[in-house]
Amino acid sequence: MITVQLRPHHLLDIISQHGAGTPFEPSEYGHALHTVAAAVLADPQMNIEFVVDADDICAPCKHLVNGRCDDVLRRFDPPKSKQEYNDDLDRRLFVYLGMAEGATMTFARFLRLIREHLDGLEQVCTHPGEDAARRRENLERGLDKLQA
Ligand code: SF4
Repeated sequence: MITVQLRPHHLLDIISQHGAGTPFEPSEYGHALHTVAAAVLADPQMNIEFVVDADDICAPCKHLVNGRCDDVLRRFDPPKSKQEYNDDLDRRLFVYLGMAEGATMTFARFLRLIREHLDGLEQVCTHPGEDAARRRENLERGLDKLQA
């Protein structure tokens, strides 16, 4: 069975974008968000290993250098390393969702876990500059589409 390695927040971003109905397009970064999203959304039984690290979306990205993200989030003052931002976010998600780092489960099981933890999830996973209420709405729409 194929197992995809993903940061939990990357999968939440996919569910949220799917809920918003925004198509997944190739990025100039060269990362694999669009191909991983297509694969996962097409297969609820896809096995996923959850990591706090560069994942299968990062693998072809031009910002992945020696296994770490060298991108910088300039919306923070002072600017923040995206690697550190992502690591902090994913560690908070592991705690919030009651998951162990390295946990493996199907996409369908992860969707059930997200549904169980939906109230308050947006307080953990909303990105800076993103509207938390909209994030929650898009996550719920994504769940509704995928669990219909
Ligand atoms: S986290 Fe960094 S390396 Fe991974 S896809 Fe985003 S920009 Fe690329």
